[in-house]
Amino acid sequence: MAESIIREDVVVSIQYTLRDAKGQVLDTSDASEPLVYLHGYENIVPGLEDALDGKKVGDKVKAVVAPEDGYGEKTGEVERVPRDAMPPDIEVGMDLLAEDEDGDVIPFWVVAIEGDEVVVTPDHPLAGVELHFDVEVVALRAATKEELDHGHPHGPDGHGHH
Ligand code: ZN
Repeated sequence: MAESIIREDVVVSIQYTLRDAKGQVLDTSDASEPLVYLHGYENIVPGLEDALDGKKVGDKVKAVVAPEDGYGEKTGEVERVPRDAMPPDIEVGMDLLAEDEDGDVIPFWVVAIEGDEVVVTPDHPLAGVELHFDVEVVALRAATKEELDHGHPHGPDGHGHH
């Protein structure tokens, strides 16, 4: 079913380029493969989701997203963890999931490997960064019930599940 505007429960395809405040490109979608997300489910950063709300196919959107509406403020916190408590293929820059004392899953990132210790931080690599998005909306469709249950889109042929 076709959808005419971006709203909650719509699967949105966008082409985007993300730059920092100095104009340096941080990330960009592949020309042949747009980013596909489910609107209203925090699949993308909240500031960009807000900026896209109500937009149509063909709309070009420029959004400047503050860290608090992006990847959060930088805490600067680091923790040292024994290397043998980590997956054997651990690498700097890798993100992992940990469970906190309340059973909530929290992501963290590997910033260094020093001898038999791994240094990790809860800060996303783009924490504290003002995000400058250039977005073009390329397609919209209604989500399937399964996608709504999962809170994320599935591939056009049902593959690409994660
Ligand atoms: Zn799924």
